[in-house]
Amino acid sequence: MTTEVRGRLGRLLPDGADPTAPLLEVRDLAVRFRTPSGASVRAVGGMSFRLDAGEAMGIAGESGCGKTTTALSLVHLLPGTGRVSAGSVKLFGIDLVPLTERQLARYRWREISMVFQGAMNALNPVQRVGDQIAEPIEVRLGQSRDASRKRAGELLELVGIPRQRASAYPHELSGGMRQRAMIAMALACDPAVVIGDEPTTALDVMVQAQILQLLERLRRELGLSLLLITHDLSVIAETCDRVMVMYAGRVAEEGPVSRVFTAPRHPYTVKLLSSFPDIRTGRRALSMIPGSPPDLRTPPPGCLFAPRCEHAMPVCAVETPPEINSDDGVRVACHLFTAGDAVRRDAASEVKA
Ligand code: SF4
Repeated sequence: MTTEVRGRLGRLLPDGADPTAPLLEVRDLAVRFRTPSGASVRAVGGMSFRLDAGEAMGIAGESGCGKTTTALSLVHLLPGTGRVSAGSVKLFGIDLVPLTERQLARYRWREISMVFQGAMNALNPVQRVGDQIAEPIEVRLGQSRDASRKRAGELLELVGIPRQRASAYPHELSGGMRQRAMIAMALACDPAVVIGDEPTTALDVMVQAQILQLLERLRRELGLSLLLITHDLSVIAETCDRVMVMYAGRVAEEGPVSRVFTAPRHPYTVKLLSSFPDIRTGRRALSMIPGSPPDLRTPPPGCLFAPRCEHAMPVCAVETPPEINSDDGVRVACHLFTAGDAVRRDAASEVKA
């Protein structure tokens, strides 16, 4: 075991960790699915990002853009027809992609865990909530049953549920409480990274706000890093430091929330933001994004957004746009921002909703 510590709790880094490496670094990740006809479809391609300690990053985009697939691929939870076909997912510098299930058990839930959408489906309906939280503590951390149950009670209180409710079954809790219990389960082994996959979907607005405040508080108090998958941009605006916008399995734009949401650059980000009420004022004449995402079984060449983009140029139909990093920390994959082309830069300055 290395002696380096991380986080405010002074936890030890796992064996084999590189203390100088980023907390989570994903490089050129590609995920493919096998269709019933035997064809192989690329659902995610060339995906790169990093998450630093204590940081919260949101992944946004339309349904089917690859947000959840990306999240599931990080922790080897893709359905049977999916596989990571390229790239690396490094946690503390340790690449999780080539690990066997047995090897991954050292990291999944212990170092990186997940809160799924729809707590009623994710919780076991015939097992008491406290036991469901205690189980990973006992099994994965090797603690005694008594110690695990005591810790489960503490975790329930941490997420705002009285520990006496540990004996309740999921159906005896409200929707908000079930989601809190899911968060307690994700925290059971004291992970460094928590992935939330639409953690507030299906909750009413009040409960949604409470869950977001809870995540924010836990991030502050525990030094957690959050990767938040959501189609709701206001959730990202309230909770995250950075946002990554995905389109058709690729990164369209990524950067600090304060910059991307106030001055979006990629034409898709502009359209996505204009299809939501204004993040700060709640007002805006909403507009639809014309057309629909490409069929990834037969993706068009060049930029995948080109058929829907009012700024498309001839180059967009033939060349995949490279990712351009700007000085203010924003990364954008669009030919309008290809360095050194004044004409395109002029066109870029006209991109607006
Ligand atoms: Fe539009 Fe071209 Fe940029 Fe794609 S690369 S978003 S088609 S301008």
